Order: sequence, then structure tokens, then C-alpha cells
Amino acid sequence: MSAHTVLDGKAIAQRINEALRRELASFASRPTLAILSFKTPASVLYRNAQAQLATALGIRTTEVAYEPATITQPQVEALIQTWNADPAIHGIFVHQPMPPQIDPQRISAAIDPRKDIEGIHPQNSARRFFAKARIGSCTALAVMELIEAIGEDVTGKEAVVVGHSEIVGRPVGMLLLDKLATTTICHVGTDQAGRLEDHVRRADVLVVAVGRPRFIKGAWIKPGATVIDVGINVVDGHVVGDVEFEAAKERAKYITPVPGGVGPVTVMMVMKNTVEAFKLQQG
Ligand code: NAP
Repeated sequence: MSAHTVLDGKAIAQRINEALRRELASFASRPTLAILSFKTPASVLYRNAQAQLATALGIRTTEVAYEPATITQPQVEALIQTWNADPAIHGIFVHQPMPPQIDPQRISAAIDPRKDIEGIHPQNSARRFFAKARIGSCTALAVMELIEAIGEDVTGKEAVVVGHSEIVGRPVGMLLLDKLATTTICHVGTDQAGRLEDHVRRADVLVVAVGRPRFIKGAWIKPGATVIDVGINVVDGHVVGDVEFEAAKERAKYITPVPGGVGPVTVMMVMKNTVEAFKLQQG
């Protein structure tokens, strides 16, 4: 099969952008997003993309970028408490991965759940479990936006998620389950058991979020599948995904490129969640 469509994340993000602009224009005041980033290449790139898009949309930002080697847990928690207490700040986004001396679960629990743009506070995780979340993992929501953009009804389909991280794999799995996809979450244990290929081969919808370049072989893709590649890896100065794109696209019906697939939609979902948090706080 070669009649595939490469999903254009930028075009899908642009459609969401236009809807957000209309919504923002109807507000009497503007939301403010607080961004805590780290001075690492990946965090700097993501921070730049967030700040540029926020400015373009008229969302205000306030930012702190920490040196990853020297930042301490009390410093991060103190900054979050300051932002929690500030009524002029509507959203808080803490970049991940955090440096190893920072406990990400304590940081998640410190964020005011009404300002929690990644949906990582335990209350928001519980809401997600009961399919009642208004804001949640920006990347997971981006994956669902891409699936919805092609009009795919996943009800009863075999959905396979590779990766079970708290901010990508698990929330994507829950959202697919909410849509009544028959959902399998694969992880390092699946791979160690030699079962990963079997699961990938039967996926009607495949979402990969591992962080290993071209880890999923093109030959494993079920003909006609929808393939959403979340991975971002730099190989010889080029950004590539977790899926062997060239071979996979010959078998898939829809596939996201890397870059230009999930990434632009994820940054847009940060803005959408900021608007959602703003509305929650305005009652
Ligand atoms: P992460 O926290 O490192 O999680 C990676 C996941 O892959 C873990 O669940 C890990 O399992 C699993 N894994 C590792 N080796 C595996 C194997 N051999 N077989 C199966 N599963 C394996 O990373 P993440 O935050 O979820 O991000 C994943 C990738 O997506 C990264 O490349 C990241 O840069 C990218 N990303 C992209 C966007 C975007 O907007 N495009 C947003 C977020 C992340 P264990 O924990 O059990 O080892």
C-alpha cells in the first residue's frame, strides 16, 4: 500500500490557533502562562516555541529558566508557590524531564490543580482516570487532535501505545480508552519479552513515545494503520522520530512526520490548556 497521507501537524495546529484567537478576542482580559524551563538544548527549544506562540496569540508569559546542575527542590517549589498565589497567573508549565535531583512527583503535587497546564497534579490525574479532565497532558491531547483531524472513529479498533510515561504514554492510553478503542500499552517489559513486534503488527492505531530513533520498524506497520510518532531524536544533526518513517509510510494510511507532526500541535495544546485554565479561574 502506498496511498498514504502524511499528516500536517502545522496545518492542524493552525486550525486550533484560529479557534483560540476567536475565543481570546471575546475575553475582557488576557491569560498569563508561567513557564519554568531548564537551560538544556531541548528545554530551550520548547520554551522558545511556547513563548513565540503565546506572543502571537496575545497570551502573556512570565518565565524562569534554571541551570539544571544547580537548581534545588526547595527553589523550584518556592517558585511554584509564588505562582500559585499570584491571581494574575493562570497557567503553570514546568518543563520535563526535570534534573535528577528534582522529584517530579512532588513538583506535580505542588502546582495549583486549576493552573496545571500539563494535567500532572494528582487531582487532575484522577479526573483523567474518570474521563472528567478539562485540562490534561498537552502531548496526549495533541495525539487525539491528530486522530480526530482525520475523522477516524477508533471505537473497537486495536490501539497500541508504545511507551508508558506519565506525561505521554499513559495519558494517551486513557484517552484512547475513553474513545472505546481496544487499547494496549507496550513498554520496556513488552520489548524484553520479545512481544513488541506482535503488538505493533496488529495496531489499527499506533502511537509511539519512546525516545529511540527509528525504533519501530516500517515492516511491522499493519497495512492501512494510522501511525502517530511522538518521538523526537537528534541523529547526525537531524530530528527523527521513533518510527522508520520512509518504510512505515508505504504501509500506513495516515502517518505523522517528525518534525512537523505531533510537535506543533502539542505547543498549541499548551495554549489551549492555558485558555481553559483561565476560563476555569474566571468561573
Ligand atoms: P520518557 O519519559 O523517557 O518515556 C519513554 C517511555 O518509553 C518509557 O515509558 C519507557 O519505559 C519506554 N521504553 C523505553 N525503552 C523501551 C523499549 N525498548 N520498548 C518499549 N518501551 C520502551 O519519555 P516521554 O516524555 O514519554 O517522551 C517520549 C519521546 O517523545 C521522547 O523522544 C520525547 O522527546 C518525545 N516527546 C515529544 C513531544 C512532542 O510534542 N512531539 C512531547 C513530549 C515528548 P520505562 O520507563 O519502563 O523504561
